[in-house]
Amino acid sequence: MKNSVHFDIGHWPDLWQAVLRLLEQTVVPNQLQAWIHPLEFIESEGIGNGLRIKMLSPNDFSAQWVRDHYLKAIEAALTQIVGSPCDLVLKVAEASESETQPLSPLDIQEGQSNFQTIQILGGIAQDSLSGSKAPYDKPDVRYTFENFVVGASNQFAYASAVAVAEQPARQYNPLFLYSPPGLGKTHLLHAIGNRLMVQHPKARVAYLSAEKFVNELIDSLQHRRMSQFRAKYREGFDMILIDDIQFIAGKNTSEEEFFHTFNALHSSKRQIVVTSDRLPKEIEGLEERVRTRFEWGLIADISPPEIETRIAILKTKAERDDIYLPDDVATFLASYIKSNVRELEGILIRLQAQASLSGAEISLEMAKHELKTAITEEGSQFTIESIQGAVAKHYHLKLADLKSTSRIRSVALPRQIAMYLIRKYTGIGFKEIGLYFGGKDHTTILHACSKIEAGMEGDPEIRDAVEVIQNLL
Ligand code: ADP
Ligand code: MG
Repeated sequence: MKNSVHFDIGHWPDLWQAVLRLLEQTVVPNQLQAWIHPLEFIESEGIGNGLRIKMLSPNDFSAQWVRDHYLKAIEAALTQIVGSPCDLVLKVAEASESETQPLSPLDIQEGQSNFQTIQILGGIAQDSLSGSKAPYDKPDVRYTFENFVVGASNQFAYASAVAVAEQPARQYNPLFLYSPPGLGKTHLLHAIGNRLMVQHPKARVAYLSAEKFVNELIDSLQHRRMSQFRAKYREGFDMILIDDIQFIAGKNTSEEEFFHTFNALHSSKRQIVVTSDRLPKEIEGLEERVRTRFEWGLIADISPPEIETRIAILKTKAERDDIYLPDDVATFLASYIKSNVRELEGILIRLQAQASLSGAEISLEMAKHELKTAITEEGSQFTIESIQGAVAKHYHLKLADLKSTSRIRSVALPRQIAMYLIRKYTGIGFKEIGLYFGGKDHTTILHACSKIEAGMEGDPEIRDAVEVIQNLL
């Protein structure tokens, strides 16, 4: 900005039209429309043998986006049309955060190096932009596409997840993954984020559970920080991965907020991926408009893996953890544990522990023994004790309370939920369950199970509690 020499650039609108035509060759039309068309010319000034052009961007967010994604390309196009080196400076109307906290020019330059390949993504929104320094969770690096075993049961979900990671916000937005528990939804969700970050290290990817979204929302409401919350989730990320979205169903404020968050993300072409334990239309209490949004995109399910996939999963895990796992053992375990990969992993860990404790190698004999104890003892996630423990923990009760005869609701309801879950997950008879609750009559258990079953249909309080406890398991 030293010597401001007057520099004649001719008729700006014509020049800009020419620049836009050049940009059309590298920038997809809706991106051009969304980010570059809205820029307005302010002024130009001569600098050395070149030109500095100042333009106005409608807001901080879009200014930052353009700086991160299109600055180099626009400068190159200007340079080509004008015939002298041009640089572009973006201003934002009104005093704004971007002026008080400028991005380091270095950051901007680095982010531009592979501009041609980045149409949408790559480090937007620094914290000042989102108005929030709130921490967020990045994907867990342990879950990748590379260590996800693909078979017929999960092939479609896998391919959809890869497509979304490689070409975010293009074809499949949102991506909705669903399956019963333990089949790899969370794994794929993290894998999407990890793949994206490998390809675009500056991309801001948030992973969170729907429960966390709800809790953070409540906290923000309570502490009057809604504008920060909104800025964070509506503007702060290139991709948002939300696990177990069914959790927001029936929570009106959360659904409302999620709906607007979704719209903001979707309309600014940022990718949303959610998982659920069931189809959108099967999520009870979910608002119609939210359900419709989910159905806009791609819905992919995962079914329980076939025996070959189960064996392959076991072998992959064994190899990764350097566990010696004979073929006959892998086949044996895979033929017994059919519907949940998490349990498959659990038994492998138990076996490994057993092998290293006893100093013996893993054998079929050992596997049979461990499987039996895992099923009957605390090893399995769905034992009587673990369910009672989870319920007690959730309600801050003592185990003795659960087994007591107290009829106050704050004790009786948790007790009934525990009975219901035990019946559901262990299939043990009503009479036997009674024994684990201080010797209650089988009709008491029967009554509890049907009451909670009905509650799962019509009572959000019961349904939510059961869901949270299932997650604890
Ligand atoms: P969900 O979210 O569907 O309940 P998770 O993603 O938590 O299931 O999966 C449970 C465990 O099983 C995780 O440790 C995950 O890594 C593993 N897993 C599930 N499916 C596969 C697969 N196809 N290949 C490798 N590991 C898998
Ligand atoms: Mg999960």
